Amino acid sequence: MDIPHPTRVIVLGGGISGLLAAWHLRRPGLEIEVWEASASVGGWAQTLAWPGPQGEPGFLERGPQGLLVGRGGALDRLLRDLDLKLRPSRPKGPRWLGKGGRRHPSPATLAGLWQAPGLGMFEQLRMLAEPFIPAGTEAEETLQAFFTRRLGEGFARELLPALVAGVLAAPPERIGMDTLPRLKRLEARGGLLIGGLRAGPEHTRLPVGGTGALAQALAQRLGGVITDRPARALERLPEGRWRVHGEGLSTDAEAVVVTLPPRRAAALLRPVAPEAARSLETIPRLDLRVWHSRHPMVKGWERGIGLLIHPPEGRGLLGAVSFAADDPRGVPGLLQVRTYVGGAYPVDPALNEWSGLFQELRRWLPDLPEPVQVREDLCPDAFPLLEPGHRARVGRLLGDLPLGLHWLGAARFGPGLPDLAESIEEWAQTAAASRIKG
Ligand SMILES: Cc1cc2nc3c(=O)[nH]c(=O)nc-3n(C[C@H](O)[C@H](O)[C@H](O)COP(=O)(O)OP(=O)(O)OC[C@H]3O[C@@H](n4cnc5c(N)ncnc54)[C@H](O)[C@@H]3O)c2cc1C
Repeated sequence: MDIPHPTRVIVLGGGISGLLAAWHLRRPGLEIEVWEASASVGGWAQTLAWPGPQGEPGFLERGPQGLLVGRGGALDRLLRDLDLKLRPSRPKGPRWLGKGGRRHPSPATLAGLWQAPGLGMFEQLRMLAEPFIPAGTEAEETLQAFFTRRLGEGFARELLPALVAGVLAAPPERIGMDTLPRLKRLEARGGLLIGGLRAGPEHTRLPVGGTGALAQALAQRLGGVITDRPARALERLPEGRWRVHGEGLSTDAEAVVVTLPPRRAAALLRPVAPEAARSLETIPRLDLRVWHSRHPMVKGWERGIGLLIHPPEGRGLLGAVSFAADDPRGVPGLLQVRTYVGGAYPVDPALNEWSGLFQELRRWLPDLPEPVQVREDLCPDAFPLLEPGHRARVGRLLGDLPLGLHWLGAARFGPGLPDLAESIEEWAQTAAASRIKG
């Protein structure tokens, strides 16, 4: 009697997308292996050791410093399933908008929004009309058009650029709404305010141990996650099977799920799906420079700070954020700041060195003392830029993939971890229903 063998799936990339795909595909009859090129899992979502000046334990985050967890959402479910211990992670201290050469309370808070610079009374009243604005019908809108429609031109002109630069490192007129699918969901539920109230509270949370603990917990619970295993080539076999070639080894599978950043995915797909590879190559990438610095603590900043800068006033400096003093990732007594530079914005060459960048930071944060430790982290391909038209491109790309070959990740679903969690959970349900051959 023939015993049916399980469907074997190879997931390429052990970043959050690959691990989530594997997590949601686990079920009887599917045998899943994850290949990760580097020595550790997590991709951008990694917490790295960065000891303090006296060798004290200390850490930095390569990617997210905190996770926005909506109650009942996919990320919430995942964190519960993994039974990870969580702590609040949003800095509760002062947050500012740097604009017009000085700093103002951040418009990301209600009080800050009301006192925001550059807005007249009419523009403030226009923001209050948000709950009465009907949902849009445009298939692919920019963030600029979406916020102009919902909150008015004043908000979109004066405040939106800094808010978006600080999160997505690009101007809102270049970013399509597919980058933040959560906003469209809120709009469909009655608008940003009403939809937000209906969706329930969102908390910024983090596993104790940092973002990296999420990736590590996923990898441990999954098993079958292999590090130091870069995929070098894909080969299509007869009967719809696939062969993945690594360095000096290869393995066969019924399906392959590619979760690599666009250009790396394109290099693998070129011989087996040239049209899809061409589409991937057209997705613009954003490179970020991130600086981590530790300073003597400043009185009043113990609960953490946040600074966003209205571009182009920062000359390429987008913003900075710190851990709260009681954050276990930091070093006691020191303020740990992370500063973002670049993305889609031109950077003044003076800001490529710490000395010039620190001078610029001090323009906005004059109280910031000289650091005791500094470390630069270059983030090439930090974010995909999902411009308007992205959805159509994804549609074409998926249509060009041969059977059994799948593509996922931040460049398909948007870079935010909550959105990735939501979309990959949904994708996996459909994929598993067809035993991932579709
Ligand atoms: C500085 C920064 C700050 C961020 N802040 C936030 C935030 O506050 N909130 C938020 O939600 N998101 C944030 N993000 C975005 C978020 O971290 C990413 O969108 C998300 O981690 C992307 O996950 P991914 O798995 O799709 O891709 P990646 O993390 O890029 O993972 C891809 C993986 O594939 C591996 N790989 C590459 N080539 C191969 C190969 N040939 N074979 C096998 N493996 C390969 C890579 O080593 C990597 O591990 C931030 C990102 C950065 C860079």
